[in-house]
Amino acid sequence: MTEARINRKGADRVASGHPWIFRSDLLGAPDAQPGSVVRVLDGRNVRLGWAHYSSRSQIALRMLPFETQRTDAGFLRRLIRRAQDYRDRVVENTDAYRVVHAEADQLPGLIVDRYGDWLVVQTLSQAMDGAQPALLDALQELFSPKGIVARNDVSTRRHEGLEETKGALAGDVPEGVVVTMNGVRFAADLLQGQKTGLFLDQRENYAAAACYARGNALDCFSYNGGFALHLAGACERVTAVDSSESALAIVQSNARLNDLHNIETRKAKAFDLLNDYAMGRKSFDTIVLDPPAFAKSRKHVEAAARAYKEINLKALKLLERDGVLVTCSCSHHFSEADLLEAVAAAALDTGKRLRIIERRTQGRDHPIALTIPETHYLKCLILQVM
Ligand code: SAH
Repeated sequence: MTEARINRKGADRVASGHPWIFRSDLLGAPDAQPGSVVRVLDGRNVRLGWAHYSSRSQIALRMLPFETQRTDAGFLRRLIRRAQDYRDRVVENTDAYRVVHAEADQLPGLIVDRYGDWLVVQTLSQAMDGAQPALLDALQELFSPKGIVARNDVSTRRHEGLEETKGALAGDVPEGVVVTMNGVRFAADLLQGQKTGLFLDQRENYAAAACYARGNALDCFSYNGGFALHLAGACERVTAVDSSESALAIVQSNARLNDLHNIETRKAKAFDLLNDYAMGRKSFDTIVLDPPAFAKSRKHVEAAARAYKEINLKALKLLERDGVLVTCSCSHHFSEADLLEAVAAAALDTGKRLRIIERRTQGRDHPIALTIPETHYLKCLILQVM
């Protein structure tokens, strides 16, 4: 078995419960195949466990559960079974959810999402990519899906020297798979949709937002209408705004699928449209903001803080007394404290007083590993104008 030696800093990181070892913390280059399992030792040859080795990524080693020496179908089946057992306890009212959330399920570099009878997988490291045949065996055995799709069109794969690809790996894959979240039906496009088809991480937040929503509602950055469709049952009218025409066409077909007649769509840049609404003295009782990540890396945090403040400011100007703001950030680098600060600054500028109804995060099927901060990325605040 090939061995990889790591320095004190790397060993401290392992001891702190973080599974990533950076290339700069390797003591010499391991003589290992790309994507193979290696034994990890510290500078004094103490065994620290096993890891997946990447010959390309800055994340040179991803630690595996302690006893793991091989990532064969048996290992994958065992850990995916445990991941599904956890979902059996926390997932309800949906046939679409995340089965495997990578490091937070001790399966580094692996995502598996379930859409009814179909599965979508992402293999984001050399080792998980190499394990794809064993992965397919394990998934077939555990779930007997009608089809399995790879959505490996993810830019982070380039850090691993892997191509961006997508396509059916097994079975047939229809153009639109219809799933039901919280009683609302969605057509998911597993091959062309964003992420693996839908924003499954917002599923619990859709239901929470619907609890407080009322009146005239606005869903900014709506994509296929995750929030808009959930709000429609509780509101008189919902306007879904997105810059993508094709996303809005799906909002409309999803509205028909659910026999909802109070959703209208507006193709626009959200910042501009909110300005136009302010000029036209339009107002809303409920506003959702779920923009794309403004802080893609640590160096963008300051610019992101300005952008989050700006978009929240524009929304708050339109919000009626007692109105509800649902405001999200999916940037890992932008913390909940950062988002609270941005929204507070925006509220002060509008002279409105807000109270926090709920501080939420990604759904429980996207678990957060206590010692791996990167696994916590989604923040969703629900606030009310006092
Ligand atoms: N709320 C959605 C997910 C939003 S993803 C859901 O729960 O499903 C972000 C969306 O913002 C994408 O659909 C993208 O097309 C849209 N978008 C990006 N920049 C935008 C802009 N400046 N104005 C409006 N929409 C934008």
